[in-house]
Amino acid sequence: MPINTGAVVHESLNVLFDDDLFLPEIQEKPREKAFRALRSILSTPNHVSKSFLRITLENDEVIRIPAFRVQHNNVLGPYKGGIRFHESVNEDEVINLATLMTLKNALHEVPFGGGKGGVVIDPKEYDVRELNLICKKYVQYFSDIIGPDKDIPAPDMGTSAREMDWMMGEYKSIHPGENYRGSFTGKSVVNGGSLGRREATGKGVYFTFRYLFHNFATEQQTWLSERNHLIAKNILDLKDRNFTIAVQGFGNLGSVAALEAYQCNQLNNKVIAVSDRNVTLYNSDGLDIPTLVKFTIENNKDLPINDKELEDAGIKAKVIGRDDLLTLNVDVLFLAALEDQVTKDNMEEIQAQVIVEGANAPITTDADNYLNQKGTIIIPDILANAGGVIVSYLEWLQGRETQYYKEEEVFKKQFEQMESTFDTIYPQFFSNTYTLRQICYRQSVMKLSDVLYRQGKLY
Ligand code: GLU
Repeated sequence: MPINTGAVVHESLNVLFDDDLFLPEIQEKPREKAFRALRSILSTPNHVSKSFLRITLENDEVIRIPAFRVQHNNVLGPYKGGIRFHESVNEDEVINLATLMTLKNALHEVPFGGGKGGVVIDPKEYDVRELNLICKKYVQYFSDIIGPDKDIPAPDMGTSAREMDWMMGEYKSIHPGENYRGSFTGKSVVNGGSLGRREATGKGVYFTFRYLFHNFATEQQTWLSERNHLIAKNILDLKDRNFTIAVQGFGNLGSVAALEAYQCNQLNNKVIAVSDRNVTLYNSDGLDIPTLVKFTIENNKDLPINDKELEDAGIKAKVIGRDDLLTLNVDVLFLAALEDQVTKDNMEEIQAQVIVEGANAPITTDADNYLNQKGTIIIPDILANAGGVIVSYLEWLQGRETQYYKEEEVFKKQFEQMESTFDTIYPQFFSNTYTLRQICYRQSVMKLSDVLYRQGKLY
């Protein structure tokens, strides 16, 4: 069962309902009514748009491609979220992902709402002109609902700066004279994108992990050691010893997170396995991540797939099955590939004590419950992978001002924004029995509820 964001929103509202400090202005019947209203508002999207894009392929065939844009909630600002190109895209998935965007933005105080788009294609099956046409058609079909102050798409799985550049170009043609720079984020730098946007998500994912196990654990060492809390003990244990990491996914997210881990000198970690859609590479002494990154850039993004390619690339590693990575005997697992990777079927074989969700929703609800009961520390997606949307917000601001920040400034702002979230979230992890995911959802739902109530949306 994939993660059901609606159910978690309900659960968070139940907790808030019992908290007298939350919305103390309303009591008894009116309070019950307000919570019922919150439940229906936050567990459903405002709009679901579906179109069938008419595309003429290079062989002159005319086909229709299903495409979605879901606008979940915009109480905090314009809808914001990526557009995914993947053959398994479907309406429920896009709704779940749009809901996660609402929660992610609320959690990190990004002044945007939540949206998501999807096109049901395997982008590898189309050539560049066809992909360009698909992007243009997407903008044409949804041109009334997107825009810099309405709904701002960005890259997601299967899309990148190239697609955002094409889409922004089309938006500009359809809306001449309008401020078009803020219509899409994640664009190339020459086209008004932000420095650092490509690396932002991967860097942020590793930073979320490092902040908990190094910064927070060091600053709060005495406080943590005085707590009779299993999680506190596990964090202090990992902080000071050598430990191993496996990274699932070696795209834009996984490769950057792996490189951050490799270069980190605050923790004694070693990346011993990485995987992509073809293989897992394993070396118990640690993999040479910079050389692997170089190889993937030079060779069309895929990792070396056999001993010959490994030798040519100068990499020492063993090739094992792609899915074997998940069940390796490692301390920390970074999930930076697809959703629904840790499921009922493999949850009992997971050995890692810490899992960091780089991808959105990589652990199903069943597996999440099971692993939490086992004491696995799970750093959830909406906490860990917000670097992308935070830098998207910086890109949107830079586009408005037509003033651009240096790369150091971008990362400084990104990390400061994430740190302030961590300083709210991490201490709560040791003060009650909630999981990190529950704490994050509760924080987001609290913020959204407060704003909805004050805007008079619950009557
Ligand atoms: N697709 C990314 C995400 O899931 C980025 C969204 C954005 O930058 O708007 O967070």
